[in-house]
Amino acid sequence: MMNSSWCVVHKIAWVLVFIGAINWGLIGFFDLNLVHAILGGIGLGASNTPERVVYALVGLAALFSCTCGMCKMCKGGKK
Ligand SMILES: [Zn+2]
Repeated sequence: MMNSSWCVVHKIAWVLVFIGAINWGLIGFFDLNLVHAILGGIGLGASNTPERVVYALVGLAALFSCTCGMCKMCKGGKK
């Protein structure tokens, strides 16, 4: 679960990964792609740019969470 001692950057990354995971769950159980439902309609041409930006951010957030772990700012103000 989200830890209240995390910094803002890690909280945002966690939320993005959470959104991606929930979206995949919805696709698996209900064949419902929520990101596509919300953003697919405002895509520019066939590229679905806003939708792909969300996917890219989710991917980056996952990589960030894996590679960076918890930063100094996460540790509740300890110096
Ligand atoms: Zn952090």
